[in-house]
Amino acid sequence: MKQYCDYHVHSHHSLDAACSIREMAEAAVQAGLSEICFTDHVEFEDPECRDNPADLAAQRAEVEQEQPALPVRLLRGAEIGITPDASFAEQAMAYIAPAQVDFIIGSVHRVGEENAYRPGYFMERDRQAAYCGYLEQLAASVRTLPQLSVLGHYDYVAKRAPYAQRAVRYADLPEAFDDILRYLAQQGKGLEVNTASWRDDVPWGIDVLARFVELGGEFVTFGSDAHVPGQVGKRLKEARALALAAGVRYTATFRGLVPHFFPIEV
Ligand SMILES: [Zn+2]
Ligand SMILES: [Zn+2]
Repeated sequence: MKQYCDYHVHSHHSLDAACSIREMAEAAVQAGLSEICFTDHVEFEDPECRDNPADLAAQRAEVEQEQPALPVRLLRGAEIGITPDASFAEQAMAYIAPAQVDFIIGSVHRVGEENAYRPGYFMERDRQAAYCGYLEQLAASVRTLPQLSVLGHYDYVAKRAPYAQRAVRYADLPEAFDDILRYLAQQGKGLEVNTASWRDDVPWGIDVLARFVELGGEFVTFGSDAHVPGQVGKRLKEARALALAAGVRYTATFRGLVPHFFPIEV
């Protein structure tokens, strides 16, 4: 049986999601997935989230309670918000330590005082300033969370971008991409292929993934970033095909932060 995994799923333990572990897991079964990882938000850099980080003890209890009845493997993880200020990542790591999660996504959501998801971020910037600002923030932040398993959604800035051409391209800022991708490759870390930023556009990212491979990157994980059941597993087949076309050979499952590589299959 082929292993199809969604390693970026949110449950009601995230401030911005409302569905139970069971509801999301049942959607995963419907989507034909063999494994999903709950990556609920732990974001001390975000004033709206800092007082409500995911309760990972409750997440663990719920996963353990639901797992026996479900034909999909449930993993426990966290999506940690990072900025150039390492103290936020340090706080997050101290916070999640007791939970002993399987998997950690490091994600940049904010550039300065603004979330790159909000319309305000784009109001005072043109495309180049908006995209370069985000990519520079990513490069300045990625080293603050050495425990990350993968870097999440490098193209988060595209999610709500008001442009006809939303795709984030390697050519948008090659020096920042090289810095980020080389660091991940050298550290044995992965890059996430997150399908949420595409929305209904054609998939992008083959240039970024190919450069990751060129710089020694070994594996990617695939994530729908689902916040509701209908999004679980969304477009992951296209994501796997994209990674293969870019020359990525492996994806990975994680147990206790240890990756287990296996070949990508469409
Ligand atoms: Zn995110
Ligand atoms: Zn997320």
